[in-house]
Formats: sequence, structure tokens, C-alpha cells
Amino acid sequence: MSFSGATPVGAPGDHPLLHGLDQAQREAVTNQGQPLCILAGAGSGKTRVLTRRIAYRAATGALLPSHVLALTFTRRAATELNRRLVTVGVRDRVAAGTFHATAWAQLRGLWADRHEREPALLDQKVRVLHALRPPRGSGEAALAEVAAEIEWAKARMISPDAYEAAVVAAGRRPPMDAGVLALIYARYEEEKRRRRLVDFDDLVILCAEALETDTGFAAAQRWRFRHLFVDEFQDVNPAQHRLVEAWRGGRSDLCVVGDPDQAIYAWNGADPSYLTGFGARLEGATVVNLDRNYRSSPQILAVANAMLDTRRAPGALDLRPTLGAGAVPDVATFPTDADEAAGVARALRHHHGGGRPWAEQAVLARTRAQLVIFEEALRAAGVPCRLRGAASFLARPEVVEVVAELRRRPPGSPLAAAIADVRLAARAGDPSGGDAATGGDAEMADAEMADAEMGSDAVVQSGAAGAGGAPERRASLQELVRMMGEQLALDPSAPVGGFLTWLTTALRGDNPDSSGDAVTLSTFHAAKGLEWPVVFLTGLEQGLVPVGRATTPEARAEERRLLYVAVTRAQRELHCSWAERRRFGAHTMARSPSPWLATVQAVVDALDGSASTAAAGGKWREHLDRSRAHVRSLSNGTPAGGRAGGARAGGGRGCVEVGERADPAMLAALRSWRASAARAAGVPAFVVLHDATLAVVAEARPGDRHALLALPGMGPVKAERYGEALLAVVANSGAA
Ligand code: ATP
Ligand code: MG
Repeated sequence: MSFSGATPVGAPGDHPLLHGLDQAQREAVTNQGQPLCILAGAGSGKTRVLTRRIAYRAATGALLPSHVLALTFTRRAATELNRRLVTVGVRDRVAAGTFHATAWAQLRGLWADRHEREPALLDQKVRVLHALRPPRGSGEAALAEVAAEIEWAKARMISPDAYEAAVVAAGRRPPMDAGVLALIYARYEEEKRRRRLVDFDDLVILCAEALETDTGFAAAQRWRFRHLFVDEFQDVNPAQHRLVEAWRGGRSDLCVVGDPDQAIYAWNGADPSYLTGFGARLEGATVVNLDRNYRSSPQILAVANAMLDTRRAPGALDLRPTLGAGAVPDVATFPTDADEAAGVARALRHHHGGGRPWAEQAVLARTRAQLVIFEEALRAAGVPCRLRGAASFLARPEVVEVVAELRRRPPGSPLAAAIADVRLAARAGDPSGGDAATGGDAEMADAEMADAEMGSDAVVQSGAAGAGGAPERRASLQELVRMMGEQLALDPSAPVGGFLTWLTTALRGDNPDSSGDAVTLSTFHAAKGLEWPVVFLTGLEQGLVPVGRATTPEARAEERRLLYVAVTRAQRELHCSWAERRRFGAHTMARSPSPWLATVQAVVDALDGSASTAAAGGKWREHLDRSRAHVRSLSNGTPAGGRAGGARAGGGRGCVEVGERADPAMLAALRSWRASAARAAGVPAFVVLHDATLAVVAEARPGDRHALLALPGMGPVKAERYGEALLAVVANSGAA
């Protein structure tokens, strides 16, 4: 095993594919090591390096793109990978897809060769579970919980027979008696076999088994895919790992890329030790590190670094910025979830008002249910937005129409012929003349890439962008064409029937549309790998971040990494918020802030108060240390540097309570001033000043600019903009 710093064999010249890469990235692209592991933090260019490496090796004759298989875990991530392959000029020839799509394509080929009838793909386990009569003892556990438990077992390749023992070994608490669940699991498997059904988990295992047992099949697949690449390798679970190993077949040409700090799928069986132990496990493996972040401002990275798990492996790297200073992140408290949604909608409009595209902004939340409130609020405010969800894409009239047309064809007819017709339909929907307007495939590829750079994703159009217009129709159909193309790259002889099955099952909860200028609404999970200039992290409350069911230290650590993933999606602006009351169905509940919000707030205070210019000047390390010292001292109850005040990130346990001695009358006067300042500027109140800062001002009663500037949360920009008015409010209110 060797580490970065070694000179790559066959030093590259000034190849165009190496432009726009730093030294470590160049090494990762050109390194001759096999197997190769690229281990690096968020936004350090892992995906960029992976796609460049494929293209560079193709350009230098080290591989033929048609022999490359590039894998990732979600459809959305596969879309992103494909888009990036477009920009480096190898998209058409490289097979890039999810584990499931690839396994399905290969299995279909196998079944056809064996003249076996293809099993149908089961999109939801509950469909079969529903039909099974519940055995005694199954109680009231919801079918969805049973399905999740079966998924837990299958991701770890645990059979029904072994389930009970595995539950005990893992210290797991299943939703019902483990013996009863094992029985249901066994019946579920039996019922599937009887009805010739396969579920998603089966695809991975069946493909691995076929590769392990059918030498002809294995030889054919290994001949076709000689060069394996896997993005986000920290997410691999035992079943998927077995499949990678089966595809590899003992060969060394495997390149994996990942970041253990972004491991957020442990609940799905993912085991990041496949990534971290790669160098030690695979003979002759090379490990390369990338250590600079190209995505986010130093201020955002300060927040991200403070989120990193303190129990990380020694030597793990913090993110080092390369970008110049950006805005200091902020934390806002809203009375209710509806206020939060309305406040964010106003801030989105404010940002867009500067002539910047909607697609530069994203609203992220821990759960999908929270996003629905935003979808309503944004629609009411005329803000176009995208919310992931398959139903909406498949329900679009143009998609329904084309799918119906495809269904009329014989299921065995070639997809390659159908794609040409759908392409034509897409052009017919474009009043400006289709190709003439887009400049053909090359420009379409550019447009797709621009979308990818924006990190846009799957989607429902709503609000101002509207739905159903010619551009939307064309975009939907182009998206269908793109998905058909993806299938064909995996399986050139794919039939229409197979594609349709894939379409309606794979899209469950994962809408692929990438059209139109709109704000993205996404869960933290679904935002992985993507980036936006402006990000709103919402609902940062106890019970959501971390999610209530995360009760063990491991589960909480995963939730914290999830917040880290969310923070690191932001490029220039990060706005964090929570609501004091939130609706859950018919109930409204009082909320307290996420225990990690105090950390965010403390970093923000440190940045806002003094250090933003130091961070911009490259002194990020001292700056970060100072932020952390500040956080620590706040949690001990002693403000850093003996300063008065600090942050008030709400009233929950574990949060910092500062500004508590604020004079209520002065606080009220400050709030009222802030409300009118916000109205005058047409921005939400928190954009003017946070609650925490107002409380600190009311407590410290600064008499001059110097005293004002010394307060946490009061940076030079805010002091310049609001200082005079604030001092006047303090003076007047104090005199009263
Ligand atoms: P994640 O961990 O979130 O998946 P990543 O490590 O895969 O992130 P990329 O998405 O490849 O990182 O890169 C992050 C951003 O930085 C992208 O916008 C990419 O284009 C840009 N970038 C990467 N390397 C460089 C570079 N050397 N110069 C300029 N921009 C770069
Ligand atoms: Mg990436």
C-alpha cells in the first residue's frame, strides 16, 4: 500500500484533462495504482477526479470506455455521475448506473440466454406482505416496519433462518417478536418465489450469485466490464460489496472514491470500513488523499468542521478552504413551522430578486414530510420549486402519453428503436424547433451539465415556472430519453418491457427530472453529492436533527454526519433555522432546537464577531480553533475570552443560554426596530439580525460603535449597516 506523495508512474504531460486540477487531484487521476482508493472530504473533488480519471485513462489508451462500469448508489447520484461524464466526453461509451440498475440489466440478459421467463420486479414489499395472513404474535406492527426489517436483513445477507440469531448478535430491537418476524420473512420469500417476483434487494444478491456460480456469465460480464469505478464507496453494504467482488473476480482494476465522514446509510447496512480498510484489505492497493475543499466558503467550512464527529479516527482531515470569504452563516428562530416556511420563501425571493436563478438555491430538511410544508408555502409565494417524488414525474401528461405508447409495443421490442421515437416526440414538443434551438446533442449536454453544476435533481414543477408548458414537456421527454440511454449503456439489447418495469419501480421516491429554473427541495439524504450556492437548512430541532429514533450513540453519530453532509452542500450562503412550534398531523407541538444548533451558533458568533476576515486571509486553522474554543467555553457556561454574551439558540437542553439578562423593554424596542428595518429592505427579520444578537445587544447596552463591534454576532458589515440605528434604539430605550 502506498500513500499520496508518491510520484505517479508515467508522469503526465500537460494533458487538457488535467487542467483545473490541483496537484493531489492530478495524482489521483494519473496514479497507475490498482486497486486505487481515493479517500477525501466533502467537496474535495472526488467525483470530479473519478470522472476525469475515466476520461484521462481513455485518452491515454489505458482503457476503452466501453469496458468501464461506473457505479453509485442512488438514481440521483447516477444521474449526477452521467452528467459529469458528459463534460469529459465519455458519457456515451461508459456504462454508469446504480447497483440495482446494473444488476437488473445483467440478470435480464442471463435469463434471456437461459430461455428463462423473466421474473417481475416487485416495487414494494408491502404488496406481498399485505397478502400474507399475519401469524399469531405479529401484533400491530405496521407492514412498512416489517418490510424495513426484511430490508435490514437482506442488506446484510441474513436469511430468514439466521434472522433471530442475527438480531440478538446485533442487539437489535425488531418491531415484533424476532421469531414471528423470521416466520413472516420466510413466508414473504416463499410467496415471491411462488409468484415469480424479485424485489430490489434480490437483484443485487441474485446477480452476485450468478457471477459466482455461472462461469460463462461471469466471464462475459468480466470481459465487458474490465475497469470498475465506484463513487461514494462509504455507502456500500455487505450485499453490494459482494457484488463488487463478484464483478471484480479477483482482478485489480477497481477504483473507489469516498468519505467516511459522509457515511449516512448504516441503517441500510452500509459499512464504511469497506472504504477505510480498503488499503489494508486489498493486496497492492494504493490510497490517495485529497485535502482541499473547492465547494464552500471558509465560513461554511468552519461550521462544517465543527460538526465533524469528535470521535473520528485520529489523523482524519478537516476541510481546508480554497475559496475566498463568503457570507457568515446565520441561525434563525421562527414561532411556527408555517412562519419558517414563509420566512424562507421571502428569503428565496429576496435572493432571486438580484437576478440570480432560482436553481442556485435549495431548501433541505431531515424528513420528506417537512418539505411538503415548504412546497405549499413556496407555491403560495410564487417561488418555483422541485420536490423529489416519482409519482409526480410519472403522472405528467406527456410522460403518461409516451409510457402508454411504449406499453402498446411488444415488451420484447428493442429499446434502441423506441428511444429514437421518444427523441422525436421531445423535439415535436419544442415550438422553437428542437435541435435548431438547442444546437443538438452537444449543447444539450452542456445544458445538462450546467444543471449538474447547479446540483439540480428530480422534480415537480410548481409555482411560477408552472407545469405543462412546451419547455416542461420537452424537458420531461428529454429526461425519459436520458433514462432510456442509461439503460442502453448498461444493456444495448434492452427491450422496451424491461425498461418500463424499471421506470415504474426504480423511480419510487426518486424523481429524475432536471428541467427548469426552480428552487430544489430535498431531504438531507437525497442532497448527498450535490451543491448549491445558497442553502437553507430547516427544521433544526430536537427530534428531527437528530431524528427521534436515533437513540444509540452510533445512530446519533450518523445523524450528526448527516447534518455535516447537509452543511457541506452550501457554496456561498448557509441559512439555518428552526421553529418553536410544529404541526405533526392534527397536533401542534412545542419544539426545542437541535442540540447541535448551539455549536453552529457559536461558530457563527465567532465568525461574525471577529474572524471572518482572518478566515478569508487563509488563517482558517486558527480561526477554526478559536471557534471550537468558543463553543467549548459556551457549553461550560463561560463565554470565551471573558466576553459577555454569546448565542441563544433557543431554550432546549444542551443549548447555550445567553443574553438572558436582557432588559425586556429594550428587547421589545429592538425587535420592533428590526421588524421595520426588515420591512423596509423586504427581507425576513433574521436577515437583518438574529434573535441571539438582539438579546446580546439588549443585555450589553453598547454606548458606542466600539462597544457594539465587540459584541458576538455583530460583524463589521452589520455594524456598518445597522450600527447607528441600533445605538439610537439602545440610547432611546435606555433613557425611557
Ligand atoms: P462530495 O463529497 O460532496 O461528493 P466531491 O468530493 O465529490 O464532493 P466534487 O463534487 O467533485 O467533490 O467537487 C466539488 C466542487 O468543487 C465541484 O463544483 C467541482 O467542480 C469543484 N472542484 C473540484 N476540484 C476543483 C479544482 N481543482 N478547481 C476548481 N474547482 C474544483
Ligand atoms: Mg461526490
